[in-house]
Amino acid sequence: MSNTDPAPEAISLTPGVVPAADVIEARKAAIGDGAEVRRLLPQRTLRTIGAWCFLDHYGPDEVSRGPGMQVPPHPHIGLQTVSWLFQGLVLHRDSLGSRQLIRPGELNLMTAGRGIAHSEESAADRPPVLHGLQLWIALPEAERHGEPRFAHHADLPVVRDGAAYVTVAIGEYRGERSPAEVFSPLAGYEVAVPGGDDFVLPVREDFEYGVVAVDGSAVVGGALIAPGLLAHLPAGLSEPFGERLLMWWNFVARNGEEITRARGDWVAGRFPEVHDYPGRPLAAPELPPVPLRAR
Ligand code: MN
Repeated sequence: MSNTDPAPEAISLTPGVVPAADVIEARKAAIGDGAEVRRLLPQRTLRTIGAWCFLDHYGPDEVSRGPGMQVPPHPHIGLQTVSWLFQGLVLHRDSLGSRQLIRPGELNLMTAGRGIAHSEESAADRPPVLHGLQLWIALPEAERHGEPRFAHHADLPVVRDGAAYVTVAIGEYRGERSPAEVFSPLAGYEVAVPGGDDFVLPVREDFEYGVVAVDGSAVVGGALIAPGLLAHLPAGLSEPFGERLLMWWNFVARNGEEITRARGDWVAGRFPEVHDYPGRPLAAPELPPVPLRAR
């Protein structure tokens, strides 16, 4: 996904400084094709959850007619993109030459490192409904200038836990570990509770947690969340990801110079090309008039 706000706000992400709200309301945002999504991270009151620095919830949308989702080639630096579907079929292409369909329950994990470009589109012969999450993970200092990579994981562990089924997309759950490669202590689960029973998630005290309601409401830590809401459960005293971030458009960096350079690289065609995308790449938005500054 790409942020296509024509004047994206520079958001300084300083983990642990902004007091967390218990329930975060999504704001409406547009992605590549103008489709509307619910943006849950980053928010003024909650910038990151661990290294998770971006979270869009989209759909369920009817995509059987017209082009469906179309996000033209756009660049990323300094982050990993996590694509997760509940319904639908999406084709990912990138500048490494990857061409990968993703289905519900599968994980597309793209590590941008020092720079990558990708596109996402509704695939031919898709089911009529598209519904999913797009997340970004900030890469720590030691990894953010590394080689770009792409991985697809179609065989993730699913743990039966009481009345719930927990798919382990990122990290570890009750001894089952996702094969996905991440670079800071992190967890990402899909929890399905078909009967609507209570479910108790064992938590780490040094983690903060975010819970998104997807196709029903839930009570999380005493707060009622419906689709479009995110429950945030703050960590104990320690922070699993303590680096200061500056995020603008599709870039996760540390300062304004890095953002300006990455934008200039995209505009000048210095990012690698997405292979075989049948259309034009996304244009970079204008930089804001005031210099981008991390806090
Ligand atoms: Mn993207």
